[in-house]
Amino acid sequence: MAMAKKLCKLAKRGKLDQIGELARNARYICKKCGRTAEKEENLCRATPIEG
Ligand SMILES: [Zn+2]
Repeated sequence: MAMAKKLCKLAKRGKLDQIGELARNARYICKKCGRTAEKEENLCRATPIEG
């Protein structure tokens, strides 16, 4: 079982290069942190970005 990288955690660790890669085609936004990502499993409270 692979653990998905949470952008929210990466941000706190300063992993900005990985964040840029994962957020490139952002389709979800984290309601808690305001981070965006392509996959919902990369956010702690993912919500689909509308339109
Ligand atoms: Zn979050």
